[in-house]
Amino acid sequence: MEATKNSPALILQRRPYREHDSLITAYTLNFGKLSLVARGTKKLRSKLASHLEPLTLANLMIIKGRGFDYIGSALLTDSFSGIRSDLNKLYYAGRVLKLFDRLVRDSQTDGRLFFLLLDWLKFVDAYTDEFSRGVGELLSLHFTWRFLRELGYEPALAKCLICKKELTPGKNYFNLLNGGIVCESCFVNSKGNNSQELGLELTNLLTISDNCVKIIRFIINNPSTLVHKIKINKKLLSELGQLTQGFLNFVNN
Ligand SMILES: [Zn+2]
Repeated sequence: MEATKNSPALILQRRPYREHDSLITAYTLNFGKLSLVARGTKKLRSKLASHLEPLTLANLMIIKGRGFDYIGSALLTDSFSGIRSDLNKLYYAGRVLKLFDRLVRDSQTDGRLFFLLLDWLKFVDAYTDEFSRGVGELLSLHFTWRFLRELGYEPALAKCLICKKELTPGKNYFNLLNGGIVCESCFVNSKGNNSQELGLELTNLLTISDNCVKIIRFIINNPSTLVHKIKINKKLLSELGQLTQGFLNFVNN
């Protein structure tokens, strides 16, 4: 095995490790998510430390260690100063990094995930209009659903999970456990019906409005450049936020 390897990496997290070191969680382009030791980063004026802050893009040289591998050198590529200088941007970027770290498995290389996160961070970094809470919520929800799709959790929004009929507008339910929609008649008939045979849990349902279905479809299929322009009222944004959070609680990748 080679003793050193190189990769661009997005730094997701950093925590103290031993007396003078840090343990870095990095999502690398070439090797997926890695936990790496950065030596001496707690000493004053450590040059390495400043290139390994969370929310940084850096080129890492990684050296094989006995336990954890460690970082031989880090060359800063982008510190996302446009995000760091805006508290709202920083808050939503922090949420996105945390979600990414929670759901991405170790050591699985996936360039699409790397660029999904990098492109999102670059878009937010360069965003010049007022970055309101509404914009932040919408963009982080956009990232969340695109990310879930990449991980294989795209919700079934066209047909009912149980009867497979095309969904009609009106009363529908979102199944948080299975990530899809259950129609009103299946919901009414759910007791003693074939839902159990199909392994569909009907206890974790939230009502979902037609507009909310539409907006999830739209954000899954469109880039940030279109999504941030959507006019969405507070009620719908809050419905979408709650539904997304509810769904995320069931996703353990
Ligand atoms: Zn149905």
